[in-house]
Amino acid sequence: MASLDRLFQSPPVPDPACDVCRANYNEWLELKNPRHPKFDPARAADVAIEIRRHPKFGTHK
Ligand SMILES: [Zn+2]
Repeated sequence: MASLDRLFQSPPVPDPACDVCRANYNEWLELKNPRHPKFDPARAADVAIEIRRHPKFGTHK
């Protein structure tokens, strides 16, 4: 998927004050790492979207 390359070039920015963002970001780092046992690019893309959305739809602004 071409969109994955773009995704990895501009990583999602988690809110450091938000536990959900931080947890998602740590998971994203694992999912996008080809050497990690949890490596799953499709799931990484989903998690990245979740991180980007969280500031708007999560419990913080
Ligand atoms: Zn958040």
